[in-house]
Order: sequence, then structure tokens, then C-alpha cells
Amino acid sequence: MLWSETKVKTTTVADTWTGRPTPPESCPEAADIVIIGGGIVGVSTAWFLARQGISVALCEKGFIAGEQSGRNWGWVRIQGRDPREVPMAIESLSIWRTLAEDIGEHVGFTEGGCLYTARNQKELASLEEWRDIARDFGLSTRLISGKDMTAQVGDAASQWVGGLFTSTDGRAEPHLAGPAIGRAAVRAGATLMTSCAVRGIETEGGRVSGVVTEHGTIRSSTVLCAAGAWSSRFCASLDIPLPQLQVRGTVVRTAPAESALQGNVFDQRIGIRRRQDGGFSIAHGTILDHSITPSTFRYAFKFLPALRQEIGSLRLSIGSDFLDDLKAPRTWALDRKSPFEEQRVLNPDPNPRVLAGIRKNLARTFPDLADVEFVEAWAGMVETSPDVVPIICDQPQLPGFFIATGFSGHGFGLGPGAGKAIAAMLTGNDVGIDLSAFKLSRFFDGSPIRPFSAI
Ligand SMILES: Cc1cc2nc3c(=O)[nH]c(=O)nc-3n(C[C@H](O)[C@H](O)[C@H](O)COP(=O)(O)OP(=O)(O)OC[C@H]3O[C@@H](n4cnc5c(N)ncnc54)[C@H](O)[C@@H]3O)c2cc1C
Repeated sequence: MLWSETKVKTTTVADTWTGRPTPPESCPEAADIVIIGGGIVGVSTAWFLARQGISVALCEKGFIAGEQSGRNWGWVRIQGRDPREVPMAIESLSIWRTLAEDIGEHVGFTEGGCLYTARNQKELASLEEWRDIARDFGLSTRLISGKDMTAQVGDAASQWVGGLFTSTDGRAEPHLAGPAIGRAAVRAGATLMTSCAVRGIETEGGRVSGVVTEHGTIRSSTVLCAAGAWSSRFCASLDIPLPQLQVRGTVVRTAPAESALQGNVFDQRIGIRRRQDGGFSIAHGTILDHSITPSTFRYAFKFLPALRQEIGSLRLSIGSDFLDDLKAPRTWALDRKSPFEEQRVLNPDPNPRVLAGIRKNLARTFPDLADVEFVEAWAGMVETSPDVVPIICDQPQLPGFFIATGFSGHGFGLGPGAGKAIAAMLTGNDVGIDLSAFKLSRFFDGSPIRPFSAI
């Protein structure tokens, strides 16, 4: 089917942030901690900090959850993760479970289960490997087939020999969760400013002394860069090399529809999950678009292992992004407009070919949904680290500067748990989540770069 026949409007992600001030009339003069970026990682960290009575100011150049955190599939899963992330993912899931009650707002969280399907015994054997990891962490993950598969997906079950299933994994609504956590942070005492780009950092005696925003300077000795897809550019302006590349993911939302399918299902052809509004959020199982830029070459060596692993899914292209990136300034004067004000919200167009592929694969995989209306489509820029695991650490050569980025396509589910762990890192506390595997230095100290084999 052609893209034009899918008759779906493309939209930007709606701004559901109703906090204040937007934009700020002036910034606070000082804060204990300043957070750059109002995605799920930034707002969750702000919430955990503010609840401890710490004065925290968060600056977001666009709107809360306007980029990845409001555009993702909405999966909250432990299944299939790199073992380094599992403890944080377990903590995150437990926060998601009571989040709506704790903040007094809906986030659309449901424990509907997560199923990865296998079309043959070889695929099943590779899924089985993760079951062994699950056992080490005491998770309920199991291999299912037959009647158990049918209970999850109805008649569609007959096309698979089995699957890996974690009943306690779930989903939440991205357009609700980030803004809701942000408002909870404000109620707890945090200051959140939207349309407020951070241009750079001020230092005194070699350590952080403040951030310069487009609306003024905030004095602070502790700054967290949670800038998602912009982190590499921000850090480069401080002479901190941070290897990061981007891929574009295209997603559709359907109208409400009857189906036996109630949870999250990942098949090679399709990733699909039930939405709170009765429809589905759907993406192609294996297509990710990467537009080649100078950064692709800059970081090619570090990304080779990930590239080798994902080569079948990547659709490489070269276009205007290459020249834009080439022309983009690496440093700028802090009293002038910065690149972060030039592009308030990364809002890539959905890929029409991918949309057509989603329509075709949906009909083949879930025939009962073949004619469901596609109501809207959008795309998001997924930022990724070389080993597809986050970067969460301090920056020893710039005391007071911390980084939390590189969530590599699965940071929405991790967000609240990461926020708790990052808040502890910033305040020197211990909440039992070991962050030592997430240091930026692992990409520069000769450690082997090994992306975990994503299932
Ligand atoms: C299509 C797609 C599907 C995905 N599916 C899933 C999924 O099902 N489950 C899952 O767990 N994860 C998923 N992810 C990944 C997940 O969305 C991200 O890992 C997560 O949202 C990252 O959150 P963040 O806060 O680090 O970054 P972001 O949400 O990108 O937020 C960073 C924010 O920083 C702001 N910013 C940047 N620079 C500045 C500056 N200088 N000053 C002020 N503000 C600045 C940006 O405007 C942005 O709002 C998906 C992502 C995409 C795009």
C-alpha cells in the first residue's frame, strides 16, 4: 500500500505541559542543582531532588517531554535488557507501579505484560538466553507457547512457535507521564522553566559556578546535563567528547479497536502495544533511519560493534542533515542565541515508507487489525550510545558537572528509576543502584565496547 493510501495525518507531539512559567520572566538567581533538559530523565531527577527539600531549577529549551520522552512507544519493560540496566529497571518498575498515586495524576501505567515472539526454533533458542538472565535477577520471565500464547494475542498465536513473556512488564502513556512528573516536581518545590535554553556553563577556579540561559544566569555548583539528543553537542562545547548518534523512529497511533491483543508484542515485523484510549501505538519491528552526518564518521569506530549488530535494521541515507551538522558551530558566545534556541523541538517527519510497511506488517501479523484506522503518525530522534546503554556519571575534569544521557531507545521505562539513582548521585547518597557501569570513560579507557545483543 502506498503512503498516500494510509490516510494518516502527521502531527507534532502535543504540548501537554500546563506548568508555569512558560517562558520564564526571569530565572532564579541561584539553585542547589540545575538540570538541563525536561525529558523524563530530567523531570524524574527534579522530582526526587525536590522531595528532599533540595532547591532545583530545570531548564527546558522547548516544552516538557517534547522530544523523545513524549514520542516513544510507551513500553515499560525489564525483559530483554542489558544486565547492567536490570537493577535500575527493576527499581523503575516499582516506582511506575505507585507513581499515579504518589503524584496524584494519571500516567497511563498498566502491567499488561511484554511478549517477544519467535517464528522458528532458532529464534526461540536466542530468546531462551535472556530467560537465564531473568532467573539470575529473580524475574518471572518465561517461555510460552500454545494456549498461553493464544491468551496473549488470540488467533495470531498460530504464526509463532513460542515467545518470551514477562507478565509484570507494562506500558505508560508518554504524552502524560513526563508532564505529570514535571508538575509533581513543581509541587514539591522545583522550578521548571520551558522555552528556556541553557547556552553554556560558567566556571570559577576550574569548577562549575553557574549556567547561562537565554533568560539569565543561575548560580549553582552542580549541573546535570540530561539533554537527550543534544547532549553530545552541549558537552562538545565544554570540550567533553561524548559519542552519540541518532536514529529516527516512526510511530503510528490507531483508533480504538477490538482485539485479543492487550499487552506489548514485539515481532521482527512489528512492535505494538495497547493504548489507554483503546487504540494501539505501532512501529515497524526492524527499521531505523540513520541520516549520515559528520558525527557518524567522528564516532564510527566506537559505534562499529553496534552497527554490525543492527546493520539489518538500519536504513542509511545522506541529505541536508550532513551539511547542517557540518555548518553547526562547535562553540558560541553565551550572550548570543545558541543552537538550542534555533531548534526548540526536534520534530522529524515520519518516514512514509516505514508507515506503509507498518500497515502491511500489521495486516500480516494481526489480521483482525488490518483495517484499523491510523489516526496520527509522528517520529522521534532516538539518541544512542556506542554500547546502547546510558551514560550516567560525574565529569572529573569539570567538577560539579554531571551527565545523564544515552538512554538508547529504552529510557522511558527506565526514567523514574534513573531519576532516583541520579538524584542520589548528585547528592552523594546511596539508594542501592550501582552506577559504576555507566561512566562515560568506558568509551575512552580501552574497555571493549560490547552492545548487549538486543533480542
Ligand atoms: C520512536 C521512539 C520510541 C521509543 N520507545 C521507547 C519505549 O517503548 N520504551 C522506552 O523505555 N523508551 C523508548 N524510547 C526511548 C525513550 O523515549 C528515551 O530513552 C527517553 O525518553 C530519554 O529521555 P531523556 O529525558 O534522556 O531525553 P529527552 O526526552 O530527549 O529530553 C531531553 C530534553 O532536553 C532538552 N534540551 C536539550 N538541550 C537543551 C538545552 N541546551 N537547554 C535546555 N533544554 C535542552 C530537549 O529539548 C529535550 O526536551 C523511544 C524513543 C523514541 C524516539
